[in-house]
Amino acid sequence: MKLKHPILNSKLILSKNDISRTKFRTDLLNLFYTSKKSVSIEDVLKHFDYSINKVTVYRSLESFENKGLIHKVPDSNNLKRYSLCREEECSPSTHNHNHGHFICYDCNQTFCMQEIKFPDIKSVKGFYIQELKLTLEGYCQDCYTN
Ligand SMILES: [Zn+2]
Ligand SMILES: [Zn+2]
Ligand SMILES: [Zn+2]
Repeated sequence: MKLKHPILNSKLILSKNDISRTKFRTDLLNLFYTSKKSVSIEDVLKHFDYSINKVTVYRSLESFENKGLIHKVPDSNNLKRYSLCREEECSPSTHNHNHGHFICYDCNQTFCMQEIKFPDIKSVKGFYIQELKLTLEGYCQDCYTN
């Protein structure tokens, strides 16, 4: 998806998903579309020059998550961190991911690794698996070459 007008696009997506369109939510969604990185709550608080309280940030992220727009990704410091979902995988009612995540030791950034797919382990006798997490750790390209 090419985004020529990310702000406009964020507004549209909020309306489409019945999320009330405040300036903050539009800007927040826009941050996800433009940063191309995963975003932690700390990142959000640092990013905006107008003051917003933490509860608003939590609630907005939660509603985005419930609508299948963003998903939680692992974080090196156990902070809440999110990445954009892909339209073809997630919808307002379900998240449907089968990709791993990579955490960089140096920049602490978390990356979605679409090319790393979950192994098929649906049938392990005696266990009902509800969630599978696949986390890789090391150095991202930027940190490895610098
Ligand atoms: Zn998702
Ligand atoms: Zn890095
Ligand atoms: Zn991901």
